[in-house]
Amino acid sequence: MPVELPDFRLGSVLATSFTATLTERQGDSVERIPTPQRLIDWLAIYGLAVDSCTAAQLKCARGLRESIHAAATAAATEDTLPAAAVEIINDRSVQGQAAAVLTPEGEWQWRLGSSSVEDALSVIAADAISIIAGERAGKLALCASPTCQAAFFDTSQSRTRRWCDMGTCGNREKKARFNANHGKKARSTG
Ligand SMILES: [Zn+2]
Repeated sequence: MPVELPDFRLGSVLATSFTATLTERQGDSVERIPTPQRLIDWLAIYGLAVDSCTAAQLKCARGLRESIHAAATAAATEDTLPAAAVEIINDRSVQGQAAAVLTPEGEWQWRLGSSSVEDALSVIAADAISIIAGERAGKLALCASPTCQAAFFDTSQSRTRRWCDMGTCGNREKKARFNANHGKKARSTG
């Protein structure tokens, strides 16, 4: 029987979807890329198909992920960017071979030089740089869920999004509020 592996939390922003491969960072964290194959699967979903992935490359990917998380969190809270995280993001950005290409439909696409994990990570690093540097329309913010606090990129008109993901953190908060209110009412009438 195949072992059940955690599903992915897929968002529309590459860099913060990548950091969401580790969820509930402030609670019972869930590693969603526990094996090299799961990193391959995740990259393929984002159009970054790679040929193979070793344990060392997976470790490297997680290192980039945590660096993006640290830098994005600092950016969201207007703190100084952690130097070690910036260095790792820059190293990964420089070390891969990837180029932007235009599809026949006129859409942006990344083309990996050698379909290696390093190439894919360079694309993710570049995406992180663009949002942390404020080059894209949107705002970095932290999820309001106390057990999550993930950095996410808010592209809503009002820039007032509170949760990294409406389907998970947002829903859980709504339910918790409903239950709290419900409980209060029951007590006051009882
Ligand atoms: Zn969240």
